[in-house]
Amino acid sequence: MREELLSPDQEPQEVEVEAGLRPRSLEEFVGQDELKGHLRVMLAAAREREQASDHFLFAGPPGLGKTTLAHIVANEMGAELHVTSGPALERAGDLAAILTKLEPGDVLFIDEIHRLSRVVEEVLYPAMEDFELDIILGKGPAARSIRLELPNFTLVGATTRTGLITGPLRDRFGLTARLDYYEPEDLRAIVERAANILGVQIDSDGASEIAGRSRGTPRIGNRLLRQVRDFAQIERPESKGHIDLDIANDGLAFFGVDSLGLDKPTRAILDSLCTRFNGGPVGLKTLSISVSEPEDTVEDVYEPFLIQQGLLLRTPKGRVATPTAFTHLGLAPPRNSAGSLFDE
Ligand code: ADP
Repeated sequence: MREELLSPDQEPQEVEVEAGLRPRSLEEFVGQDELKGHLRVMLAAAREREQASDHFLFAGPPGLGKTTLAHIVANEMGAELHVTSGPALERAGDLAAILTKLEPGDVLFIDEIHRLSRVVEEVLYPAMEDFELDIILGKGPAARSIRLELPNFTLVGATTRTGLITGPLRDRFGLTARLDYYEPEDLRAIVERAANILGVQIDSDGASEIAGRSRGTPRIGNRLLRQVRDFAQIERPESKGHIDLDIANDGLAFFGVDSLGLDKPTRAILDSLCTRFNGGPVGLKTLSISVSEPEDTVEDVYEPFLIQQGLLLRTPKGRVATPTAFTHLGLAPPRNSAGSLFDE
C-alpha cells in the first residue's frame, strides 16, 4: 500500500524523513505565492462559513509540494486527512468504502488522480458535486441502485499530468493550480529550513549551491542536503559537519550531481539522445528502452526539467536534443540530422 503512494521519483526510505520536513501550514510553505494567496482566501472563507472548502486539483512534476498542500489544507481546516491514490482505487467499491467512512469536513487526498479508472471516476462525479453516492446492488435485470448521502468533504487531487485529466473531472474542482519549478531563492529558503529541522549547520553560500542544483524541486533540494551532510560527516570530518560552498561543491560532485543539477539517470537520457541517436528525433519508447526506464518515468519525472532548461524538445517526430544539450555534455553538436534543425 505504501509503495503505491510513493511518488515516481521518491525513494522508499524518504517517506519518513519527508514527513518530518513537511511544512504544516501555509505560512511555512515556501514560494508559490499566488497559489498560497488563493488557498488562504478560500480556506478562510470556508472556515468562516463552517463548511468544507471547495475541491482542489494540484498539478505539476513530482516533488513540488502537492502532497504537502493536501496536508496543509486539512491542517488549516482542522480536518482529518484520508490518503489514497488513483492506482489503489481499482474498483468502484474501493472508492465507495473510503467515501462512506468520511466525517463532515474531512479531506480526501487522491494522488495520481489521472490514473483513476473510468468506472471509479464516475462514482466520484456525484460525490464531488452533490455529496451523493450511487451504489448498484445485484447484477443484470434484478440490479437496482440506491443513493447514499455523503457528508460534505473536500477532495484534493494531485496529478503529474493535467493533460490526462478528463474535462468533466477537471470541471468539478473549485480551484485547479499548476505548481511550477521553484526559483533559486525559494529553494535556498527550503534547504535552509530543512537544515534547521535536521540540525545541520549550513552557510548561505552552501545552501545556494545546493539550491541551484536541485532542479527547481524541493524534494531534490532536501535530498541533496542530506547527501552533502553525510559527505561532510564522513569525508570531511575536519568540517565538523558545517556545510560551506566548498563542502557543498565537493559533496555534490561526489554524488554525481552536475553543474545544472542533472543526476545520473537524467544525464543518461540526455547522453543517450545525443550519442546513440545523434541528437534525435527519437521516439519516447526507444529512448526509454535505451536507458532502461519506464516511459512514464522518463516523460513525467526526467523530461520536464530537461525541457524547461532548453536541453530537450518534444517534436512531432520525437525527442530532439538542443545544441545546449551537446555543449552541456562536452560534445560538439552534429551538423546533420537533428543538429540540422538548428542550422541557419
Ligand atoms: P509532491 O506531492 O508534489 O510529489 P511533496 O508534497 O511530497 O511533493 O513534497 C516533497 C517534499 O518537499 C516534502 O516533504 C517537503 O518537505 C518538501 N517541500 C515541498 N514543497 C515545499 C515548500 N513549498 N516549502 C518547503 N518544503 C517543501
